[in-house]
Amino acid sequence: MSQTDSSKFEIAVLPGDGIGVEVMEACVALLEAAQKLDKGPLLKMTSYDAGAQHYAKTGEALPARTLDAARSAHAVLFGAMGWPNVRYPDGTEPIPQLDLRMELDLFAGVRPIRWFPGLPKVLANEQASSIDFVLVREQTEGLFYARGRGKVIDDSEAYDTMQITRRGTERVTRFAFELAKQRKARRGEARVTCVDKANVFTSMAFFRNVFNDVAREFESVSFDHAYVDALALTMVAKPWNLDVLVTENMFGDILSDLAAGLIGGMGMAPSADIGDAHALFQPAHGTAPDIAGQDKANPGAMFLSGAMMLDWLAQRHDEPTLATRARNIEQALQRVLAYGEVRPMEYGGRAGTKAMTEAVIAALPNP
Ligand code: ATP
Repeated sequence: MSQTDSSKFEIAVLPGDGIGVEVMEACVALLEAAQKLDKGPLLKMTSYDAGAQHYAKTGEALPARTLDAARSAHAVLFGAMGWPNVRYPDGTEPIPQLDLRMELDLFAGVRPIRWFPGLPKVLANEQASSIDFVLVREQTEGLFYARGRGKVIDDSEAYDTMQITRRGTERVTRFAFELAKQRKARRGEARVTCVDKANVFTSMAFFRNVFNDVAREFESVSFDHAYVDALALTMVAKPWNLDVLVTENMFGDILSDLAAGLIGGMGMAPSADIGDAHALFQPAHGTAPDIAGQDKANPGAMFLSGAMMLDWLAQRHDEPTLATRARNIEQALQRVLAYGEVRPMEYGGRAGTKAMTEAVIAALPNP
């Protein structure tokens, strides 16, 4: 990565389609406002074209210039991409986020789910207010390995193959254990759960075996295993018992939407796609065509993804002010929600994207 000026980080901004554009505009405004309030390093945020609508206009979903910018930036901030009826000639959808995961080798999809005051209480149980877990999704193999490789034979049978490698499983498992160690400092305990279907599939039994090999390297972190179907039940019945989960690509895709449902929907579910050399930060939601262009989207997930980016930059470049800035953003969002006067439309309130953004910017701590 290039770093010409130690006081400045280059961020490649890819707003994309639908509400991706709206929540990104909000997030850039918030990050700009937050960096004016501290003496920490400045982020230089530059927007690049990509997405389904760009494909419809130009025939390119992820232009080489955008990919180069993502590769040379210190981090990528990503909105959402995809649009109904925009398809490649073979009928599949342009999904540049999947291409970026492969191109930048972003193997760990990190999806934290945390309840805080002001979020809807989806579960009646009192303990729902202590929901605080992270789903780590392997993102470069698993069932998504089949993308572009599936086969239909004689119009009578179809195959998609799941790939699980020792290298891929080891690195995502190690990532999950390292994350659990960091969380232990805050929570006093740490446990990684391997989510698989080892009772049925050879590939999943292999995933579990490799997980167990890696687990032995981490004495301070406990671990257990759960079949994905049982875990789906636990996620609804007792999600407060979960800490860090690690799973293959497709299971992670499904479970992360279920997890977002526990805190009221997609609008407050952030994510980070992390590799050894690059990282991309995006809300877990899609382009939401049903509400796009109407100032209805909740920008919270994008804000929290921006905070995750600041934390990652802080750790990687030893810049503690960026971590403080991340806390300032999180706390401003939490204050707005807890106070309740400005409530997102997603939760039945009247605040659209712009009103939420103004409120969160106004709630940033002023030194
Ligand atoms: P994808 O396939 O890319 O996940 P999708 O349309 O299936 O796209 P989302 O775009 O995540 O899924 O939308 C799912 C539902 O959640 C939609 O009804 C959408 O309006 C709602 N939604 C998603 N994100 C937000 C948000 N930030 N604020 C409010 N509602 C949202």
